[in-house]
Amino acid sequence: MRQLTEQAQHIVIFTHMAPDGDAMGSSLALWHYLQKATVIVPNAFPAFLSWMPGADKIRIYEKEAEACNKLIEDADLFICTDFNDPKRIGPMGEKMLANPAKKILIDHHLNPVDFADEVHSFPEASSSCEIVYRILRKDLSNPNNLNVDIATCLYTGLMTDTGNFSYNSARCELYEIIAELVRAGVQKERVYDAVFNQYSTDRMRLTGYALYRKMRIYPDYHLALITLDANELDRFHYQQGDCEGLVNMPLQIGDVYYSVCMREERAKPGTPKSRIRISFRSQGDRPVNIWASEVFHGGGHMNASGGELFGTIEQAVRLFEDTYKKYLKI
Ligand code: 5GP
Ligand code: MN
Repeated sequence: MRQLTEQAQHIVIFTHMAPDGDAMGSSLALWHYLQKATVIVPNAFPAFLSWMPGADKIRIYEKEAEACNKLIEDADLFICTDFNDPKRIGPMGEKMLANPAKKILIDHHLNPVDFADEVHSFPEASSSCEIVYRILRKDLSNPNNLNVDIATCLYTGLMTDTGNFSYNSARCELYEIIAELVRAGVQKERVYDAVFNQYSTDRMRLTGYALYRKMRIYPDYHLALITLDANELDRFHYQQGDCEGLVNMPLQIGDVYYSVCMREERAKPGTPKSRIRISFRSQGDRPVNIWASEVFHGGGHMNASGGELFGTIEQAVRLFEDTYKKYLKI
């Protein structure tokens, strides 16, 4: 990576749509480190990540497409973090591919699409932040290079992509990295508080409503389904990120091992159908990514995947009910 970044003058760092803590953390850590890059995300990030150092400098394609197109055309190096397919950055994917500049991929999703010149793909890693740390380790072992902003960004991704170290987090190396980050000044309790203890009242009530009124259990398959349509989301003044983590909650039930959450996004002007955004989670040796990819045009990790359907919640539920027995283990 060093050779490519040293030669480049106009580096664009991309991360995926609906950025999460790992997407933001890995891209911003590199941004702080390189000091000469621009981070562009396809759409807005949730408010509970807006405190992250450098977040206010991120460019959002949906808000300023023209300026971002110019940055993409002028770029002489692209770094893609936390996604494995140019499609995950929306229309920017095509624009990036149209620029012959070199591309570096840093990611932990399975089966990356073959588009980058330099690939750091480690599906066994907890997070893309862990991979960024490993890549920069040599430089970061000089304390002058691992400043508190870089460390805080990396810690945020490690924390969020492992559910505060409750899954994908059994390897010792992770805790060695955390020790280095805390030594560099990360205030881990404050990061936890900033990310996880910032619900609005509406978001908390939406969570309660979803669990009390909208959760169905399919006991034979240890499966839970939550659905929220656009009217229901309106009632609770839904903001981007308000359903983050909701899909994990049914897994707290002793004999629920699979959980799915469906959320309706109203049709954009000029498009006829709503988009149903679907999140899949599972525990242990129970893959959900094949189901997400073969039936719902998505994919992801074995235990955490996403997908979509254009239509109504009822259609999505019908497809779900027609297919879960084929893809899930009893
Ligand atoms: P979430 O449910 O949090 O939106 O997504 C869970 C995981 O699945 C994330 O790691 C995300 O990268 C992956 N994922 C979500 N949507 C898609 C998709 O449409 N395609 C692929 N390949 N992965 C996805
Ligand atoms: Mn990630």
